Amino acid sequence: MNNRFIYLDHAATTAMRPEVFEAMQPYFIEKYGNPSSIYSLARDGKKAIEESRDKVAGVLGGRSDEIFFTGSGTEADNWAIKGVAYANKFKGNHIITTSIEHHAVLNTCQYLESDGFEVTYLPVDENGLVTPEQVEKAIKPNTILISIMFANNEIGTIQPISEIGKLARERGIYFHTDAVQAVGNVPINVADMNIDLLSLSGHKFYGPKGIGSLYIRKGVKITSLLHGGSQERGRRASTENVSAIVGLGKAIELATRNIEEQSKKLIALRDRTIEEVMRKIPYVKLNGHMMQRLPGNVNFAFEFIEGESVLLMLDMKGIAASTGSACTSGSLDPSHILLAIGVSPELANGSLRLTFGEENTQEDVDYLLEVLPAIVERLREMSPLYEGVEGGNKSYAV
Ligand SMILES: *Cc1c(COP(=O)(O)O)cnc(C)c1O
Repeated sequence: MNNRFIYLDHAATTAMRPEVFEAMQPYFIEKYGNPSSIYSLARDGKKAIEESRDKVAGVLGGRSDEIFFTGSGTEADNWAIKGVAYANKFKGNHIITTSIEHHAVLNTCQYLESDGFEVTYLPVDENGLVTPEQVEKAIKPNTILISIMFANNEIGTIQPISEIGKLARERGIYFHTDAVQAVGNVPINVADMNIDLLSLSGHKFYGPKGIGSLYIRKGVKITSLLHGGSQERGRRASTENVSAIVGLGKAIELATRNIEEQSKKLIALRDRTIEEVMRKIPYVKLNGHMMQRLPGNVNFAFEFIEGESVLLMLDMKGIAASTGSACTSGSLDPSHILLAIGVSPELANGSLRLTFGEENTQEDVDYLLEVLPAIVERLREMSPLYEGVEGGNKSYAV
């Protein structure tokens, strides 16, 4: 009986830290007051929200009055893009983004296209990188917004954010970055990097789900998505999710406390996994950039097999991972990100994403390296595609 459980899907979500849970608890039953009320029960919640705002501002290098809480990373992305588009449509209707954004950005841009906006989806190179030169060339007189993700959720590629921020600022074009995967993994400073809007999400850095934040630089013209009460300085109506906001504040504080040390540890796990898998398993491709890569991200494409079958067999061995292939993602298409970096649809279906997090150890990697090569080999032996391949199972019969 195998009762080991190893979680290697931190890009999908993370377990909340116990300290975060503890910090949130008082705001469910004891300190339940509505932060907009004036009695002391409510003031506790109001104060906690502002402390959380200060923490987020401190981590990002912005001011507290530039931090707004949202219901998710998805909402932050929607708000940044739709809000800037609608508030600035008198100036222009052109938006620049990339072809490898998260659907929260891509589908928002597509929605805006149906409403009269024009969107340029920049292609990326085989490592998933977009260059500042590409961005510069795409700028037109009617460009109002550039939205480029900080780090990719599937292949981990980190974009040249500072350079893009600089050129956007010089031209007076707003620059938004979806930093949902980057916060807690890479140092970020919105002032140094010339970022006007930045999205983040609590559950990607050991905080609660259903809470995000949007940094909006002072002076950025943006409309609201939610109209109602005057919460979030009149920009985002809804009674505040006090406990989740407190949890996000605590989580971002803990996740960024010793980011260097933590990222060194993750890089060690990542690089050993990459090296050993490439050494032990033939016909495998590493997706994403070798260096400009999130510390905990590994993404392979295995030839001749389905990523989904690898996931099921890993699950039987107690390992949770992810694939950019059909079905698991709820759609029939292979990952748009893998296709954008030039991976064929067939190979994209054999992809496996392993994302390490703070509780993972070298022993976890030992175990992974023990089971993964055997799983790949076994699946290949059953694969008609592998028949006749050098080293492959030649006795396969339908
Ligand atoms: C997870 C994720 C989102 C969405 O955040 P939610 O809080 O889950 O809505 C957006 N962008 C990226 C890059 C993500 O990884």
